[in-house]
Amino acid sequence: MLILMQTDHTKKQLKDVLAKVKALKLKPHVIPGKLNVAVGITGNSGALDPHLFDAMPGVREAVRVSKSYKLAGRDFQHHDTIVPVGPFGIGGPGLIVIAGPCAVETEEQMLRIARRVKAAGAQMLRGGAFKPRTSPYAFQGLGKKGLQLLALAKKETGLPIVTEILDQRTLADVAEFADVLQVGARNMQNFALLKELGQLKKPVMLKRGLSATLDEWLMSAEYLLSEGNKNIFLCERGIRAFSDHARNTLDLNVVPAVKELSHLPIIVDPSHATGVRARVAPMARAAVAAGAHGVMIEVHDRPDQALCDGPQALHPDDFATLMIDLAAIAGALGRGMATPALKGRG
Ligand code: PEP
Ligand code: MN
Repeated sequence: MLILMQTDHTKKQLKDVLAKVKALKLKPHVIPGKLNVAVGITGNSGALDPHLFDAMPGVREAVRVSKSYKLAGRDFQHHDTIVPVGPFGIGGPGLIVIAGPCAVETEEQMLRIARRVKAAGAQMLRGGAFKPRTSPYAFQGLGKKGLQLLALAKKETGLPIVTEILDQRTLADVAEFADVLQVGARNMQNFALLKELGQLKKPVMLKRGLSATLDEWLMSAEYLLSEGNKNIFLCERGIRAFSDHARNTLDLNVVPAVKELSHLPIIVDPSHATGVRARVAPMARAAVAAGAHGVMIEVHDRPDQALCDGPQALHPDDFATLMIDLAAIAGALGRGMATPALKGRG
């Protein structure tokens, strides 16, 4: 339910509306607008009767919001969310590039790759310390040691860290080291984990589930937002389809669809979407052309020795070339690469 206040409503009238929402054991969200103030309501399990509010003094209209996600949708927030990460903002006009290996392997590997992606202009560093693997016999990540190596790489390069959170058990450790907590495709509907992440203030990157619809994806974002964490952005990483020429099918159509329905930023991961090195750069370029707020690219300087996802890792030289192309595409669209903002925000 959305309560639209009259343009000339008084403070007391707004206060009375908020009090009534709370009296119903629901949560009001004041949505300030240039001319009109609205109050969004969450917490109701069934539809609310508009007559509860539309006769109150100062109320212009009470309207039902038909979408099941509320806080993630544009009805409750018109303006785009910008998620602050270090000196950058994800969701503004500046393009964000997150790059690094699939997994943290050794100190040398992490530092070598971190230096190369930094030199090429990436603004954030990725690397998994806890890896969700299809096979229990495959490399599962270095765990806490991996987090410490990410901290070393951050100390040297200054790049904020994006790393995956697998479960509640390791949440405190990962939250200590990560600038962005990555929820992987396999955990998109781990609602217990989402509820806990929603109680943090740290940015969360929510990857799309292996076969999640846009509605399901936004409902998962709603779990995070409804717990109070507003620093959420989405990552399209390809979905399961019938085609077998690639690891997944990159759904670029979802980029403008998300931007239409939601204020949350959306980035694209062409590495997991294709699984094939030669296709990563073309799809990264296409993602920027489609309006993504950023991309996440796996980079490895010795991909044949990589412990995870070597076949889709770009060599640092190829990554540097891609960065030049992405800057050109962003420039052609009147955008640019995100730069550090003066007051700690981009
Ligand atoms: C990853 O980014 O390393 C990863 C495991 O991605 P996804 O969850 O999209 O498979
Ligand atoms: Mn990977």
